Amino acid sequence: MITRFAPAPTGHLHLGHVVNALHVWGAAHERYGQVLLRIEDHDRQRSRPEYEASILEDLAWLGFRHDGPMVRQRERGALYRKALQPLIDRELVFGCTCSRADIQSDIYPGTCRDKDIPLTDEVGWRVRMDPGMERFFDEMLGPQEQDPSRQSGDVLVRDRHGNWTYQFAVTVDDHLQRVTDVIRGVDLLDSTGRQLRLARLIGRTTPPRFWHHPLVMKSPPFAEATGGKPQKLSKSDGDTGVRDLRAQGWTPEQVRQRARELAGPRARA
Ligand SMILES: [Zn+2]
Repeated sequence: MITRFAPAPTGHLHLGHVVNALHVWGAAHERYGQVLLRIEDHDRQRSRPEYEASILEDLAWLGFRHDGPMVRQRERGALYRKALQPLIDRELVFGCTCSRADIQSDIYPGTCRDKDIPLTDEVGWRVRMDPGMERFFDEMLGPQEQDPSRQSGDVLVRDRHGNWTYQFAVTVDDHLQRVTDVIRGVDLLDSTGRQLRLARLIGRTTPPRFWHHPLVMKSPPFAEATGGKPQKLSKSDGDTGVRDLRAQGWTPEQVRQRARELAGPRARA
């Protein structure tokens, strides 16, 4: 098993990350697997080096040790460009000048598909998603099926600012790094179909296994305040930043224990 922990350096490490880390390292330890560390700084405008440094420092403090060299997505643009070339050759990639406001939907309607807009740095680059079901077995949720053409439409792989997108960068990285197991929060379940489609298009013959774990829920007292219905924990709930907990005198084991409680019985680290 090769899995990965892949934080975006757009903020500090919080309990949601620690819960994911428990799932990732837990599954890897059970199967004598490896955990790679990938900094998902594909969005160059929002990523900050000070967040990366802070995340690395908190991970080390918590005792999560990764295997192999750390990689940064911002340094892998040439690999993404190379991975896309076969799709360009097959005329599956087109330039798109639509702004977010133009699209007005989560599903790209195909506006620029047949406009022959050149793939320059000033336009978005999209990969055609033709109708078709992607089926996979989620290790935590069971059998799944998704049709990317109905979920997202043609997938943006590079934006108008020259950033490779999350969807494409992770698909290429998971392929090139030979990741066998993608372990992440259930909020990314909907991305899986298009990532499987993209993976096949870039030449991956054996797709990774996917494990989508529950998101961090508020602790029972919080949940009672909301009528017992679990709510996703967010940074605005306070006391979720590892930095803050450290400043309050928490030990690494206390933070891990708190994350274990939030994660529920299926996190094993
Ligand atoms: Zn467009």
